[in-house]
Amino acid sequence: MIRKLIGKVLRRPGKRVLHAKHYGVRREDIHSGALKVCDRLQEAGYEAYVVGGAVRDLMLGKAPKDFDVATSATPEQVRHVFNRSRIIGRRFRIVHVPFYERGGEEIIEVTTFRGAGEAPTDESGRILRDNVYGSLEDDALRRDFTVNALYYDPSREEILDFHHGVDDLEARRLVMIGDPGIRYREDPVRMLRAIRLSAKLGLDIAPPTRKPIAECAGLLQNIPSARLFDEMMKLLLSGRAWDCLMALKADGLHKYLFPVLDQLLKTPQTTAFLQKALANTDKRLAEDKPVSAGFLFAALLWHEVEASWQKKLAAGEHTVPALMAAMNEVETNVEKRLAIPNRYGAAMKEIWLLQPRFEQRVGSRPFRLFEQQRFRAAYDFLALRGECGLVDKELVEWWTQFQFCDDDTRSAMIARVTGPQKGPDRKRRRRKPTGKAGGAAKPGGESSGGAE
Ligand code: ATP
Ligand code: MG
Repeated sequence: MIRKLIGKVLRRPGKRVLHAKHYGVRREDIHSGALKVCDRLQEAGYEAYVVGGAVRDLMLGKAPKDFDVATSATPEQVRHVFNRSRIIGRRFRIVHVPFYERGGEEIIEVTTFRGAGEAPTDESGRILRDNVYGSLEDDALRRDFTVNALYYDPSREEILDFHHGVDDLEARRLVMIGDPGIRYREDPVRMLRAIRLSAKLGLDIAPPTRKPIAECAGLLQNIPSARLFDEMMKLLLSGRAWDCLMALKADGLHKYLFPVLDQLLKTPQTTAFLQKALANTDKRLAEDKPVSAGFLFAALLWHEVEASWQKKLAAGEHTVPALMAAMNEVETNVEKRLAIPNRYGAAMKEIWLLQPRFEQRVGSRPFRLFEQQRFRAAYDFLALRGECGLVDKELVEWWTQFQFCDDDTRSAMIARVTGPQKGPDRKRRRRKPTGKAGGAAKPGGESSGGAE
């Protein structure tokens, strides 16, 4: 009893073996691909466990995002067992094992137990490569948080816990394994993971785990911009995007990912704009609907673009060239921190470029704008601006109405704004009104929620 108490106070590491079922983890909840990987590696004589987020999330009663496997087999040995698998990564070599399920390819990531041996680091202590292999105990020590170091053995239906992960999960506590300062220096992205997991799972970051973050924040500057982009995406798509941004700000981490946040929070309109864009994303995710990253980044960076655009307009530049120059400026600025992949960047820029075109309600222009592939996303963006007082509400209402009426009414609407006109070029009239209030006007077209 006393020994148990002392152990608790000192949190001495020690292996605990638990009946998985008692903790809500059942074989049938595990992805069939991950089960096959574990079973076949074990049959081949290796150790293999489902590890990390999947075990943690199942214990919390949440659906895991992905299923990762940890094994004693080296990447080459794993390759040997699964002939369609491929080894990827250099800094951290892992094996992707593909499975074809529900008509698509699903990947199970298999990592070899990392060793406790010295990994090469840069002058700030950042680990450059982590390909030294070791035992299961070593592997548990190299993981980030105690709740992420739980190993599920599907054949024995047991959970192995080396660092009090189960206690911490029950206490809703996020605790770094080892010395938090050293662990953040080894990999500064762990600070972003702490923020995200705490917001997403409702865990409190333990004070010793939180403390070094403020002083280590600057180390994020050394992280490649592609990796920062990936982490930013995970934060934004965590289902608790606003909470994540507020937590980043509280610890000063936003400066390295999203410095414009300080500016955005200065006015009620821009604060509301950001909050609504993120709340909309969280809501779509909760409803299992796809989210457009292009739309999200268009919203996050719009303030920067608009400020520079307005400056150029005030200096006498023309609307569209001024907007394009402002976009380029912001893009160059952002690229230094986040490498936004082209597929998202292109959608983001189209949404921005269509904004001034909503103001041009003359002749056939509204008809041409309505035919744009990204009309729907651009309109949703305009509506968001309208809701927050960043654009005239009358303009938004006009466009809402324009989408859902027939061509004659549309021409009459244009005439009301601009005086009698010749009317639209009849040949252009291809689209029929849908009659659906508030629904997407474009079958198969781009919407703010469309996956990209
Ligand atoms: P989720 O998949 O829900 O975002 P996760 O914890 O599973 O969360 P992954 O990125 O899938 O996150 O990582 C799988 C596991 O790998 C983690 O649970 C953790 O054990 C380990 N891990 C991931 N990133 C790091 C890191 N930077 N340092 C140490 N261990 C890490
Ligand atoms: Mg995971």
